[in-house]
Amino acid sequence: MAQLAKEVPYLSIVVPLFNEQDSLELLHNGLTRALRPYTYEILFVDDGSFDRSLKVLQAIQLHDHHARVIRFSRNFGKAEALTAGFRESRGQVVVTLDADLQDDPQEIPRLLAGLEEGYDLVSGWKIHRKDPLSKTLPSRLFNRATSSVTGLHLHDFNSGLKAYRRPVIKKVQVYGEQHRFIPALAHWQGFRVTEIPVNHYPRLYGHSKFGMRRFLSGLLDLLTVLFLTRFSRKPLHLFGSAGLIALSAGMILGVYLSILWFAGDRPIGNRPLLMLAVLLIVMGVQFITLGLLGEMLTLSAAREGKNIHHYDVFDSTALPLSADAEPSPEPHMGARPRP
Ligand code: UDP
Ligand code: MG
Repeated sequence: MAQLAKEVPYLSIVVPLFNEQDSLELLHNGLTRALRPYTYEILFVDDGSFDRSLKVLQAIQLHDHHARVIRFSRNFGKAEALTAGFRESRGQVVVTLDADLQDDPQEIPRLLAGLEEGYDLVSGWKIHRKDPLSKTLPSRLFNRATSSVTGLHLHDFNSGLKAYRRPVIKKVQVYGEQHRFIPALAHWQGFRVTEIPVNHYPRLYGHSKFGMRRFLSGLLDLLTVLFLTRFSRKPLHLFGSAGLIALSAGMILGVYLSILWFAGDRPIGNRPLLMLAVLLIVMGVQFITLGLLGEMLTLSAAREGKNIHHYDVFDSTALPLSADAEPSPEPHMGARPRP
């Protein structure tokens, strides 16, 4: 087997794959051609394939020391595959692309040029998407919704082709099917995110792994992302407000019914309003306690130093030597190919 490259590569390519046996060799050839100017590694993350994918990858690895293979014992989903690839990657810059030949490796230098301009995440925009209408239409709706909910205005959140600077992948964690929201989560962390139009090809082999179910899970994940980005630091602000509104409405109704009862002119025991008052009070108390529990979780994560936002440090080594020297560039690694 070819020895793993000793030198730390500049670029890590992460390819999540699930049953893509027929595409892998062509993809590997395409990547090898496109990546010639760089020091790189290719991490194939086999997400529990049960076809010949692993065999093909092992054969590739035999001859190419750039290739590394990660294998899940069963299918855990694309987001988990990406996370494993990110963890194992060593490059300053990480590029992801799908294994089904729908993404074009020749676009990688253009993504890197975007990083070079100062962005932290450059996402591919499949401007002429080669997928059936049943996919492109709901996808357009999904992109519109995500764009307005998250405040990050991209045309295409879900392209497999993306380039990241390392701090982004260290900070942004996804699980389940949240890979569609990586740009939004990165944007929320304060990273600079952009998109560039990229080529897209029809699927040649195998079939899409995401059916109509994706739209329901996309909607639920959008809700999660909305909650996590807006309220994960202050859960009581969400639950507490709902709780206070319900509690006060219930109390007002309760007081009104009590006055009627004390006045003694009408029985209140069989009034629907009484049920409503009790329901609102119980709901209010539950919402508030839920918010307080959320605050306790947030506090314990903060104590463990787990939810610190991304920041850059400018120390004296980054300052210009003399007063008239040019100010030093941003404290990021540039996306330059090997000289
Ligand atoms: N994929 C994966 N695990 C899964 C589903 C998909 O690793 O559970 C990979 C798949 O092999 C492909 C990429 O994710 O490389 C995108 O999947 P697909 O082409 O099916 O999605 P589509 O292009 O239809 O959106
Ligand atoms: Mg595809």
